[in-house]
Amino acid sequence: GKRVLHAKHYGIRREQLHAGALKVCDRLQDAGYEAYVVGGAVRDLLLGRSPKDFDVATSATPEQVKHVFHRARIIGRRFRIVHVPFWEHGQEEIIEVTTFRGASDAPTDESGRILRDNVYGSIEEDAARRDFTVNALYYDPSREEILDFHRGVDDLQNRKLAMIGDPALRYREDPVRMLRAVRLSAKLGLRMAPATGKPIAEHARLLENIPSARLFDEMMKLLFSGRAWDCLMLLREQGLHRPLFPLLDKLLSEPKTMRFLQRALQATDQRIAEDKPVSAGYLFAALLWHEVEVLWHKKQEALGYPVPALIEAMNEVDEQVSRRLAIPNRYGAAMKEIWLLQPRFEQRVGTRPFRLLEQARFRAAYDFLLLRAECGLVEQELADWWTQFLHVDGETRSAMIARVG
Ligand code: ATP
Ligand code: MG
Repeated sequence: GKRVLHAKHYGIRREQLHAGALKVCDRLQDAGYEAYVVGGAVRDLLLGRSPKDFDVATSATPEQVKHVFHRARIIGRRFRIVHVPFWEHGQEEIIEVTTFRGASDAPTDESGRILRDNVYGSIEEDAARRDFTVNALYYDPSREEILDFHRGVDDLQNRKLAMIGDPALRYREDPVRMLRAVRLSAKLGLRMAPATGKPIAEHARLLENIPSARLFDEMMKLLFSGRAWDCLMLLREQGLHRPLFPLLDKLLSEPKTMRFLQRALQATDQRIAEDKPVSAGYLFAALLWHEVEVLWHKKQEALGYPVPALIEAMNEVDEQVSRRLAIPNRYGAAMKEIWLLQPRFEQRVGTRPFRLLEQARFRAAYDFLLLRAECGLVEQELADWWTQFLHVDGETRSAMIARVG
């Protein structure tokens, strides 16, 4: 049954919400529609965390929303939503507005093909179609009330993540919900309810049917959740890593390579906690390095030369990975550059070290080298040499090179 709660009793004040989200709700309500801030934002505020984005759910159709906000854009075909742009601190920010979804699954013909896709419904139906109870909370800024249809507030207080409805059925409807369960429980420190966790292992393989672009998006959310290492451990515990990273088991069974990944991900989590930028290219370089390295050594025995061997190994790994995860080119290029610079650290002759310094990705590649050394994947002496090289003047640098030679 529906519960109506006073937001103030839960420590939520109107002013904590994004000004744009408030304006969207106010103006839609003034125009006679229902409008609420919904989902992750309400959940995060209840947990005392600052929300990443603010979504609005409304009874207005996309066309009606566009009529109220002339600068709004209707996007998406399979799942139409409206983007309402706002200017905050000189930056464009987008409030995502979705129309309440209907309870019925999209109608299909005998072959399963979807005939009609944007079935709208009531707020109750909209709540039932959301994934977890804690994500089905609606905040009404004008009444300062929270509408709770599935006891999400109780679950939050009990630190529980529970799927709405029959979990197995909901995972079959959309297997990505399994990844969301892992991410949200690790990120928010919620325990998965037993019934929510139990069907995951046997449904894990359904992730193989998810388009690689969507899997990549989810993987990014996991890695940038601020709890990347915990997410990865939980993925493995649930048997969900195989469709994403088949080699993770092998990687984690060796102390050195496991430490390497743990260090890389924990450093990322730390940077996110400090609001520092994190490079996705660097992260993927770390995640896949083991696969590349194993192949690299194998190829080097056959080819004799390290760099051509590395290039072949990189390309093979890249090809295998792209079948599972569509890593966009801008990240893939950075990842490969970081890998490609690794053997060049070994070339400490002539002008080569100076030229290496001038590479655009030198800093990332150097950090990567330090990490490898720290975990025993490369000689510590090499990393120390480069650290010293960076900190001395040009004349001393030349002397250092002469000494190696
Ligand atoms: P965060 O933004 O912190 O990553 P979130 O819960 O807000 O977490 P979004 O992807 O922003 O996640 O989704 C917004 C809301 O849409 C969710 O809170 C949930 O109610 C609903 N939702 C998102 N993905 C799904 C899904 N796969 N199935 C059902 N409901 C979903
Ligand atoms: Mg969100």
